[in-house]
Amino acid sequence: MDTTQATGQEVVLKGIAAAPGISYGHAYVYSKQIPEVQEKSISAGEVEGEIGRLRNANARSEKELTKIHAFAEQKLGSQNARIFEAQIMILADAILMGTIEKRIAQELRNAEFIVANEISKYRQMMLAAPDEYMHERARDVEDVMNRIIRNIRDQKLFSRLEGESIIVTESLAPADTVIFSRNQILGYATDLGGITSHAAILARSLKTPAVVGLRSASKTVRTGDMIAIDGYAGLIVLNPTEETLQTLMRKRQRFKEFEDRLVDIAGLTAETQDHKHIELSANIAFADEIEFALQQGSAGIGLFRTESELIGKSTYPTEEEQYRAYKAVADAVYPNSVIFRAFDVGGDKIAPDAEHEANPFLGWRGIRVLLDRPALFLDQLRGILRASSRKNIRIMFPMVSTVQEIRGAREMVERAKRDLEARGLPYDPGIKVGVMIEVPSAAIMADQIAAEVDFLSIGTNDLIQYLMAVDRDNNAVQALYQPFNPAVLRTVKHIIDAGHKRGVWVGMCGEMAGDPLATVLLVGLGIDELSVIPVVLPEIKKIILSIRQKDAKRIADKALAMTTDGEIRDYLSSIVKNKVPDIPFDE
Ligand code: PEP
Ligand code: MG
Repeated sequence: MDTTQATGQEVVLKGIAAAPGISYGHAYVYSKQIPEVQEKSISAGEVEGEIGRLRNANARSEKELTKIHAFAEQKLGSQNARIFEAQIMILADAILMGTIEKRIAQELRNAEFIVANEISKYRQMMLAAPDEYMHERARDVEDVMNRIIRNIRDQKLFSRLEGESIIVTESLAPADTVIFSRNQILGYATDLGGITSHAAILARSLKTPAVVGLRSASKTVRTGDMIAIDGYAGLIVLNPTEETLQTLMRKRQRFKEFEDRLVDIAGLTAETQDHKHIELSANIAFADEIEFALQQGSAGIGLFRTESELIGKSTYPTEEEQYRAYKAVADAVYPNSVIFRAFDVGGDKIAPDAEHEANPFLGWRGIRVLLDRPALFLDQLRGILRASSRKNIRIMFPMVSTVQEIRGAREMVERAKRDLEARGLPYDPGIKVGVMIEVPSAAIMADQIAAEVDFLSIGTNDLIQYLMAVDRDNNAVQALYQPFNPAVLRTVKHIIDAGHKRGVWVGMCGEMAGDPLATVLLVGLGIDELSVIPVVLPEIKKIILSIRQKDAKRIADKALAMTTDGEIRDYLSSIVKNKVPDIPFDE
């Protein structure tokens, strides 16, 4: 027993906020009921029986998943329920199942072992990809594997829990989330997983607080422990003290009252009290996020990360496939518009044909890849252009570091247009083209860059990383990843001023755009557009509606004169508390 358990001491575990909400209750530590798979020899005479067990298990797994699919469809809508169709397709994969049966007969080994071994190969391949989304899909594959094995063993499907619980687990498959939702679930806390995990998406749809990426929660917490989960701050508290609980409950109450009031502002335009309009749009990676973004009151999509389409693929999609995908998105947001960012492959993201690089973040990434691969780039540009005939699409280039790259990319856009003209296909001839400003050299050259494009969008996720020389994903140096460092503020100001000098609008689509602490500052610096994750959108809108541009400017000037990240944070937090007293902040 560790000391935490013995003393009942309060322990705070920090993860990633995946679905908003706060709750408190007993933990239920859920471990996948799949013990070690034993390798056993079978005789030739047993092969038929073994294959029979496998087929029965598959049929039962399919029945279970079909039921879960129907339940999910009714509870979450058909978009979210699609995940289960993908799992059913794995079960129906004749080649995979044929290989498994053949191996049982040839190798004379038990079905469980061959299933685990064969499906694990797929899983390993997915886990080896340098991409969090692929890791999530690997967990879906693992879920199907575990389901078949459980059914080969004729074990019952877990589905009932006594009373209300917060589920703590290493990882949560989408099916688990749906099955658990039949019980009284107060929250989900997982060691693994990112906010793009389907389980996280489902938790948000089910309005259940969730925190993911907690690393060791399932080992630290025991079933029956009292825990609090804070899906806003992304943490869980084991054995919370009375004081912590009261703070959390007050926070819950403030958020609840705040959210109730926010419902009314979804239809309002984001505008300061002295009528400075801020285009407030959403960042998304998948088409099925559009509905939620629009519900949250988004004025369109300010960043569509098209590279997400490459997930799970070993080749790039064709022009036709891309056209259909982009057209569906453009139609779904119409009459609002969507900014498609050209594939930002490389760095920590997926690239179907990536080479190993010693420093991937400083390597072959974004526009560098696209310019080196004209056929691939043209396919994407033609796909986007063909989808643009309703004139609600803009194109944006990632990872730009020089003016030449922009010229090269614009030349490719012109080539793509000529190709479409030759084929007699319509597109928006006045389509707007912009760039991400996320590399320091581009930030410094922002005025020259602005002269070549229609808009700039500041990508603070990378800009901070490159400016501060801090790996955005390295926990060891997280303290130096400072959005409010004066160097970042001055750079942001420089970019906005440079854009305005050249008459182009300047937006921000990095995570900083969705930080409520940054809103007054950014409005004061003159930002024209903020593209944020959908969940925070109403809160940011509320702040914009509560302030005056002229006050914000004074506040930004004062912040710019300060010298440290901490000083600026303290100042901005006192301002937000004062200007928007009902905004729920951590105490
Ligand atoms: C950014 O760098 O701020 C950004 C929005 O792009 P990504 O997070 O996709 O690199
Ligand atoms: Mg970036």
